[in-house]
Amino acid sequence: MNTHPHTAPAPVSFYRPQRGHKAPTMRSPEYVQMSTAAAITLGLMQGQMYRTDCTHCLNLLLTYPEGCRANCSYCGLARHREESKDYAERNFIRVEWPAARFDEVLERMQNGTDRGRFERMCISMITHPDSDQDALTLLQRWVRAVPDIPVSILSNPTSMQRDDLLRLRDHGAEIFTVALDAASPGVFAQTRGAPVGGPHRWEHYWRVLEWAAEIFGPEHFGTHLICGMGETEQEMLEVCQRVCDLGGHNHLFAFFPEQGSLMEQWQPVARDQWRRVQLGRFIIDYADGRFENMQFNDQGQVIDFGILPAQQDALIASGTPFRTSGCPGKENEAISVCNRPYGDSTPTDIRSFPFALNAHDLDCVRRQLAGEAVGTFNEE
Ligand code: SF4
Repeated sequence: MNTHPHTAPAPVSFYRPQRGHKAPTMRSPEYVQMSTAAAITLGLMQGQMYRTDCTHCLNLLLTYPEGCRANCSYCGLARHREESKDYAERNFIRVEWPAARFDEVLERMQNGTDRGRFERMCISMITHPDSDQDALTLLQRWVRAVPDIPVSILSNPTSMQRDDLLRLRDHGAEIFTVALDAASPGVFAQTRGAPVGGPHRWEHYWRVLEWAAEIFGPEHFGTHLICGMGETEQEMLEVCQRVCDLGGHNHLFAFFPEQGSLMEQWQPVARDQWRRVQLGRFIIDYADGRFENMQFNDQGQVIDFGILPAQQDALIASGTPFRTSGCPGKENEAISVCNRPYGDSTPTDIRSFPFALNAHDLDCVRRQLAGEAVGTFNEE
């Protein structure tokens, strides 16, 4: 029995936020946060998800008690919440992000605790002075311990220079993604820049995207884009075409008002707008369509996707354009293993389907494209 009164308590290996309970000090690279779906898939917590039992991407997030230094108005991690919420308690893309020691994560991966369900790991950076170095450290440790699972980097361009991208590539990062999030300079400034006390700049984000095109090459870089923050469908699809012309892919998120964020009073993106943007993005990224061939009305809504009706019907019938968009697995590069279950909607009103659509889902999507205000929940 250890009688020495001054032995430090053993570090927690896994921590789930508890209301009113002060979180232990957890700091990357020793600790990482992860999505609830990833924690369930890794067997670190019990839980069930509607119509799916796992995610195929281990989404990890850098974590520091002082939190993210940026203040994006749609984000649950934003700096303005530091008065009200312990960093470990802040929700992110609609879900709780528990924390774990990275050693524990590596050990479980090496022991096959995920039962081979993870096809990718992703390191999400935040705006913090240690973010660049800690992302590199986690990457190096992962590549040594779990070399068969490729790594994506969800970067924080504001603190990055060209050499940072070179280092990440040279130490094994397969895909480099820029969370542009906003699809126009105006929406970007309003939600991430000076108006909200944020450090991010549209021009620098595009510079980093161009570096990523050079350094990581075609199909190995991309963007995150959030639909429904005031941009038009035309602006969103024009950005998708610009990224695609650089050789990259576009990963879409439906805007959902994040609890505690500066935009928590906003409405989720309209279903018809979202479905048109999902279809348009897929046509540009994976069906050789082009923004220039699309037509838009005065509100900037798509009225013609610029492809043959038969091809358009076939794409809709496949359901693939309406699935979660993100980094691919081993099989089909147009299908994301980063399926982020219910990261941008509730299970009763699914926006990004984390699984293949069934007949009922397809019927709902077609009715939503036709402007009907229907959800996706199937009573049967
Ligand atoms: S889409 Fe790719 S970069 Fe984005 S969170 Fe998923 S794995 Fe990471």
